[in-house]
Amino acid sequence: MGMTFRQYLSGPRIYGCQKCKTHLATLASMMSRAFNGQHGRAYLFEKVVNVIEGEPCDRAMTTGQHTVRDIYCCKCGDTLGWKYEVAQEPSQKYKEGKYILERNLLVDVQ
Ligand SMILES: [Zn+2]
Repeated sequence: MGMTFRQYLSGPRIYGCQKCKTHLATLASMMSRAFNGQHGRAYLFEKVVNVIEGEPCDRAMTTGQHTVRDIYCCKCGDTLGWKYEVAQEPSQKYKEGKYILERNLLVDVQ
């Protein structure tokens, strides 16, 4: 994935990429633990750093139709989750611009 500049986060708890330990998000930016990813439990974050966003695609989920972008670790290229671009259901609009990270793909780096 080249020499992409990486940000370093600070805080009481930092979540990183399980494979390469690149910092991704902080506990402070976590909005919910009650999500499901492709591989089990997933977390919703307000802000995630050091990821590359894929092309937007439409995906039917249990909570309705969403436009999402898969997100990849900027260092090792592993798929980590996705970003919500558009939620069709009014009750799901709060997720727009937010990120899902799969718990199984995360590691505590601090
Ligand atoms: Zn990585």
